[in-house]
Amino acid sequence: MILPSCGRVAVFDAPNMPFRLVEYPLRPPQAGEVLVRVRMSTICRSDIHSYQGRRPSPCPGLLGHEIVGEIVALGADVSADLCDASLAVGDRITWSEYFVPGRNYFREVLDLPQKSPGVDKYGHMSAETPPHHHGGFAEYCYVRPDSWLLRLPDVLSDAEATPINCGVATMCAVIDAAEIRIGDTVVIQGLGLLGLYGAALAKARGAGRVIGIDRVAARRLLAQRFGVDTAVDPENVPKIERGADVVIEVCGDPAVLVSGLDILRIGGRYVLAGLVSPGARVDFDANLIVRKLITMTGVHNYHPRHLVQARDFVVAQRTHYPFSELVDGIYTLTEVDRAMADAAACRVLRAAIVP
Ligand SMILES: [Zn+2]
Repeated sequence: MILPSCGRVAVFDAPNMPFRLVEYPLRPPQAGEVLVRVRMSTICRSDIHSYQGRRPSPCPGLLGHEIVGEIVALGADVSADLCDASLAVGDRITWSEYFVPGRNYFREVLDLPQKSPGVDKYGHMSAETPPHHHGGFAEYCYVRPDSWLLRLPDVLSDAEATPINCGVATMCAVIDAAEIRIGDTVVIQGLGLLGLYGAALAKARGAGRVIGIDRVAARRLLAQRFGVDTAVDPENVPKIERGADVVIEVCGDPAVLVSGLDILRIGGRYVLAGLVSPGARVDFDANLIVRKLITMTGVHNYHPRHLVQARDFVVAQRTHYPFSELVDGIYTLTEVDRAMADAAACRVLRAAIVP
């Protein structure tokens, strides 16, 4: 097919400034690269943090890392995805939210590619940095070399597929770290998008009972459709005999650690994934970790295998859980301001940009 000569991206010049559309040239993909036409990009909480200046983000900024795209052109050396499925022009794909600068110690030895020195993330670079198209709020995106690509089956809608490469994959990493066993009682602190996927994943892993905690009544109501057996506000957490086997923090409030440690049983596992901003200080009795033999684990981003798990989980469970309803606001590329405002004010659960 003939490559268009340029594509539009939505950029912001400084935190909280209105978005403007800028045209940047397109070139054929280089070796290891794939050029996609963006079909949908959803606004993640970290996009909002970047836009509001609470997370360092270079300007003029181009946001969006939860993306689904259709292949426009394949660079040399790209013929298959992470699972060896062949790739062709027209295929719909998702890909890791990050890419790494080649082989390195963290990737090869420690098996932590997401922590490679010099790792970059989609929707987290200046739009002035070539090749300019490297975020979701745009018509096109270059999937850079040393990203992990995954072909999407036709059965998935764009709404079901778009959160896979951030929200769902991150929760696959969390559930992995939590080592949930059959019959476990799992408590989830925070019933936003991550908490809802986490509940459904915990059930798929065999959890006997999932208790969700959130201050927002509407979220508690929705949670019951995603595998949460008991949804309560923080003041009404039920007494769990012997304590919870697993507690998962995805609410971003460090103060909940105090109750999390209290809720856990002796030998329980605590996985923290929501405290992504520096300065998450909290005063708690660390003696409890020792005396109760607690295992605490932090999870940030994910391993490429979790991307595969995330896709396969959504494909397998899409008839059990209303994943498509989580994307409840659709906006065009000229409406990014309104999309961002609605997402920041929690008027929608997941806003989606459809260029
Ligand atoms: Zn994200």
